[in-house]
Amino acid sequence: MSRKTCGCGADHFDRRAALATMAGGLAAATGASPAQAHAKRSPVRPEDEKFMQIAIAEAAKGDFPFGAAIVREDKVVSTGRNLGVTNHDPTAHGEMVAIRRFVADNPAKELKGATLYTSGEPCPMCMGAIVWCGIGRVVYAASIEQLSKRLGQIMITSRAVAEAAPFLTVEITGGVLAPEALALFDKK
Ligand SMILES: [Zn+2]
Repeated sequence: MSRKTCGCGADHFDRRAALATMAGGLAAATGASPAQAHAKRSPVRPEDEKFMQIAIAEAAKGDFPFGAAIVREDKVVSTGRNLGVTNHDPTAHGEMVAIRRFVADNPAKELKGATLYTSGEPCPMCMGAIVWCGIGRVVYAASIEQLSKRLGQIMITSRAVAEAAPFLTVEITGGVLAPEALALFDKK
């Protein structure tokens, strides 16, 4: 891999080469530096199930079974569920609804460093919104791969979107209460 040098004394990998490495899925496996990897696998934390249950309870009330909760300083500050049919708005995914509700009443900068819990791995639209908001951590239940067996999905992972954003590192934790989230599809 080619390197560039600048005045700061650090090694800089060539960006194109770095992207090629990520495309090969090697960045995560090799523990690449923060300059290269913008998605970081984050271990499950003790509070994750409690907050995921709130996201799943939202999902149970959604037009499609997807729900989200935004948590700051150990407190739920916004929730959202899929309102695509109710609002005649295909962009009203649980994550988008939770973000819009939050920014309707609060400064957007307060989302920086927040955690977003979602019953389904964020699609590229929602993950893009999460990145633009500077949300620092995403915890999801069912993966896009799992969801794609239930209904159509854009097959781009949340990790791929985060890794394409060179200005932010998002911690991502997947699989928290996935069976509970997937079971909601059986009730619809
Ligand atoms: Zn979405």
